[in-house]
Amino acid sequence: MPKTKKIIKTFKAKKPVQKRKRGRPAILTSKQTKKLPLPTEPQKPAEPSQAPRGMRDILTTDKAVWDVLEKKIADLARAFGYGHIETPILEYKSLFTRGVGATTDIVQKEMYCFKDHGEDELCLRPEGTAAAARAYINHGMLNLPQPVKLWYLGPFFRRERPQSGRYRQFHQWGVEAFGDDHPVLDAEIISIAMRLFSEFGLPVCLEINSIGCVQCRENYKNELLKFYEPKQELLCETCRHRLQTNRLRLLDCKEPQCELIREGAPQITDFICEPCRNHFMEVLGYLDEVPVLYNLNPFIVRGLDYYNRTVFEIVPAPEDREQKTEEGDEERKNENDSPKRETEKTGAQVALCAGGRYDGLIEQLGGRPAPGVGFALGIERTAAFLKNKNPALEKASAPQIFIAQLGDAARRKALTLWHEVVKDIPAAAALSKEGLKAQLEIANRLQVRYAIILGQKEIIDKTVIIRDMEAGIQEIVDYNKLISVIKRKIEGDN
Ligand code: AMP
Repeated sequence: MPKTKKIIKTFKAKKPVQKRKRGRPAILTSKQTKKLPLPTEPQKPAEPSQAPRGMRDILTTDKAVWDVLEKKIADLARAFGYGHIETPILEYKSLFTRGVGATTDIVQKEMYCFKDHGEDELCLRPEGTAAAARAYINHGMLNLPQPVKLWYLGPFFRRERPQSGRYRQFHQWGVEAFGDDHPVLDAEIISIAMRLFSEFGLPVCLEINSIGCVQCRENYKNELLKFYEPKQELLCETCRHRLQTNRLRLLDCKEPQCELIREGAPQITDFICEPCRNHFMEVLGYLDEVPVLYNLNPFIVRGLDYYNRTVFEIVPAPEDREQKTEEGDEERKNENDSPKRETEKTGAQVALCAGGRYDGLIEQLGGRPAPGVGFALGIERTAAFLKNKNPALEKASAPQIFIAQLGDAARRKALTLWHEVVKDIPAAAALSKEGLKAQLEIANRLQVRYAIILGQKEIIDKTVIIRDMEAGIQEIVDYNKLISVIKRKIEGDN
């Protein structure tokens, strides 16, 4: 029997290990289960010098890590033959109410919507798949050879409760393959996401599930109702609501009492039809080929309505799940932690990337039926993980040398020299400064290893001074040999 067949037969979930603290009740009282209200916006008027809540500036050291990540993303997407697109940051609100689903958290609570002067209902895009699907329909891409493979990278907006790794403006790398439902595409898409992590040596786990087709889900939702209805009182308030509106989401609630109840819940894999089961087994078979390791996780359902069949999340390996950011810690200082937020702090649900198949989305948006599969990878979370594992990346785009000058003639020459040098070596300078001391202090602050010093004498002699900032040693070199000498030194240091 092929390996995947064996796996699907033993698809019953392992009982999750209880992480209950000694002395803490397993089921919280109804008072405790009351979901904490969303914090109200600050009462005092917003300070013009502060970024809006949940939105932040990405400063230079973080941006250096982002640059490395974004370059790798672009190289990888191009290497696999995906085409780069960009869609508007504003879309019609109806795109998401129709595409993402009216009962989803995103549409119900998290979109930034407004009417423009022409009374169009617009919103800041909360996710990319619906927008990419709209572009596919809009530009008649159905008439191109299928599948059409696209990628994009940019900001998205959700009015969520800000916390570590969760922002109101965040960035995603999205990859989509439209127009073909072959299971090999699911594996292709997943393997590209996994490849990004492996190229950076980041330890991650792929959690995968199949949520079947509409029919499989109808049967399953009825079973869920039968199971959960008698236990309603024990569920958190959100889950009591979800029981009526979005039953599958009961399975990915992180409230301790709901996780406990979930243990005995029926599993979707017992309800998926033969074609969906076969599709899933083929996806797993192709993943085995790459190979990509996976955990079958029947509780992965995803929060968006358009998904069917394959759904997956990529999470940090267990030992790396405690991701903290300074911003997140700051938020925690300002708010009371709810049990859910504690769970997030320990990383149990900190997905770096998530995706799946969405065969009905294009039709739902008014296009000729065409299947699709894709993922969205969170740049903030992946960059934080990358920085954590590889702190040196902060300096990836830092200048390697500093050009200092003394006197007006040297300043002029330094400007020319700077332009020559940057063809080969990233360099900084502070040409408006007068004294050498002030300039070398800047070089020190930038942590460059070598400063090139140019004065009146050097101009006459056609030389420059190279100062090793670490050792405090200086040497005079021929102006024309500067670039080759400095390159050799830098290579020797690495
Ligand atoms: P989703 O679009 O909800 O499927 O999310 C895909 C990925 O985007 C997640 O796995 C996260 O890495 C990232 N992500 C989603 N929402 C946020 C957010 N509010 N802040 C930061 N990253 C997010």
